Amino acid sequence: MKITVLSGGVGGARFIRGLRHRLRQVHPDSAGGTVDSISAVVNTGDDMWLAGLRIAPDLDSIMYTLAGANDEERGWGRIGETERVSAELHAYGVGWPWFTLGDLDLGTHIARSYYLRSGLPLSEATSRITARWNLGVTLLPATDDEVETQVVVDDGSTMHFQEWWTKHRAALKARSFVQDNVSDSRPAPGVIEAITDADVIILAPSNPVVSIGTILGIPGIRDAVVRASAPVVGVSPIIAGSVVRGMADACLEAIGVATTAGAVAAHYGARSNGGLLDAWLVDESDADAVPAIEALGIRAVAVPLWMRDLETSAQLARDALSLALATG
Ligand code: GDP
Ligand code: CA
Repeated sequence: MKITVLSGGVGGARFIRGLRHRLRQVHPDSAGGTVDSISAVVNTGDDMWLAGLRIAPDLDSIMYTLAGANDEERGWGRIGETERVSAELHAYGVGWPWFTLGDLDLGTHIARSYYLRSGLPLSEATSRITARWNLGVTLLPATDDEVETQVVVDDGSTMHFQEWWTKHRAALKARSFVQDNVSDSRPAPGVIEAITDADVIILAPSNPVVSIGTILGIPGIRDAVVRASAPVVGVSPIIAGSVVRGMADACLEAIGVATTAGAVAAHYGARSNGGLLDAWLVDESDADAVPAIEALGIRAVAVPLWMRDLETSAQLARDALSLALATG
């Protein structure tokens, strides 16, 4: 079975790790890999050049999580990380003083920047970097083009998403999100094929605006999902009216979508009505929302959505796959 997941960083990474675990449970004989294949189409809107290096936070969150090299407690970056190089950069006044890059993490950024400067596209750089870890999942950046998310804040000024998110902790009221040069961008090689050839497409429980929204903003990707022959199942990133981890509510507010599982489903829309979803998983605590979502033409099921550990993430993946197969 070919499964394609559209994903942001942390929420998506946990979901994909659970999915890989679930598939290994189903096919324990596949010697560490799986007879199924998982492709992740990953948001690149958070990417940026900093201190001469190309940073790709969502690709790296997924890579480290799948590699088992992530800092589980902190929720991002590498385990056993030190920050000596960043301290030196800050002393030189290079980079952003409020943005620290770990030493091990810098190794990834240097490798990526080396490949990019050698003339390779991001997709090829990603494939070379991920090869080290034997992830069992193909990571596809949504685009090879530099389509960075800018946030227009209330006073009309614009800043890079990373500055709004990390420096201001999303506390400055956002008016809108803009993707630089998006109309000239193209999906990276393999992205449209991964969507068109999939047996199941899953929208991970990721930020609907600045993760899934930015992926869908690359010309051709939304259309490919809408037209795909595979069933499309989404997992709500919202549980009982809150965002679980992070500050995605500030993003939803800016685009006028309430922070509820039902409102996000309505925002994605039913495929039968030109939207994206055939089915939508909500948390058990949101079971009340099921009839209204089904009334939109989206099949909805309430299951536990908290990804507390590998087992709960794998169970969620199992629920997403069953719903897809029941829908398709
Ligand atoms: P980011 O790029 O690191 O912000 O990560 P994503 O875009 O992939 O996901 C962020 C979103 O994941 C958060 O806003 C949460 O709403 C959602 N999320 C995080 N943990 C969980 C979880 O355990 N269950 C569910 N359903 N959603 C989660
Ligand atoms: Ca992100």
